[in-house]
Amino acid sequence: MNSSLNIMHGIFPHHCLLCGAIDSEEMLCPACHAGLPWHLDLHCPRCALPTTQGEICGLCLNAPPAFDRTIAVMRYEFPLDCLIQELKYRHQLGLVPLLGSMLAKHIKPLSCCPDVLVAMPLHPSRLRERGFNQAVELAKIVAGQLELPLLAHGAERIRATPPQVGLPWKERAKSVRGAFSCSIDLQGKHIAILDDVMTTGTSLNELALALRKRGAAEISAWVVARTLPD
Ligand SMILES: [Zn+2]
Ligand SMILES: [Zn+2]
Repeated sequence: MNSSLNIMHGIFPHHCLLCGAIDSEEMLCPACHAGLPWHLDLHCPRCALPTTQGEICGLCLNAPPAFDRTIAVMRYEFPLDCLIQELKYRHQLGLVPLLGSMLAKHIKPLSCCPDVLVAMPLHPSRLRERGFNQAVELAKIVAGQLELPLLAHGAERIRATPPQVGLPWKERAKSVRGAFSCSIDLQGKHIAILDDVMTTGTSLNELALALRKRGAAEISAWVVARTLPD
């Protein structure tokens, strides 16, 4: 794939956006679709990090996160990382249906049935800068395809946090502490939090804590991509 993605799908609907193959009915040709970094089958059910037998990992045993499970479609690796960066930083919103559908298709057979979806909130200042929240856009697709309600307001990022990229993992945890608030009563509810990428899980954990404070009984994390440590 070259650096400037062929996001011309609307103009040339039969070009694969990764390799440019002409015979594609979908946004990706079958070969590029098959070659995506699909997540490994054996992973910790709680945080989606790889484990040898698919058991709960040591990190989750020692310090269980505030969410109960993580469903990740792919590993945050090439070329998916490029697609997600195109979406977020070059405003290629044409990628939302592709990535959102992948998440919905992955979740559908798992019969994970939350009461409501919540998209990972952006701080208002970041939202103004970017113009959209990719997690909300993905969540709209997933909510539509799985016929689940999406909580549009009520969970907020009340504190701007520095960009997490480049911060050591421990620093990330500190920087997002108390960053979220929730104003909706979620007593007894199963909530699925949607995000594009789960890196360390610290943001998801903090948001899950805020939802727990409002009574959430069960929390699932649904992400397109999971970053795996080297
Ligand atoms: Zn292709
Ligand atoms: Zn784990």
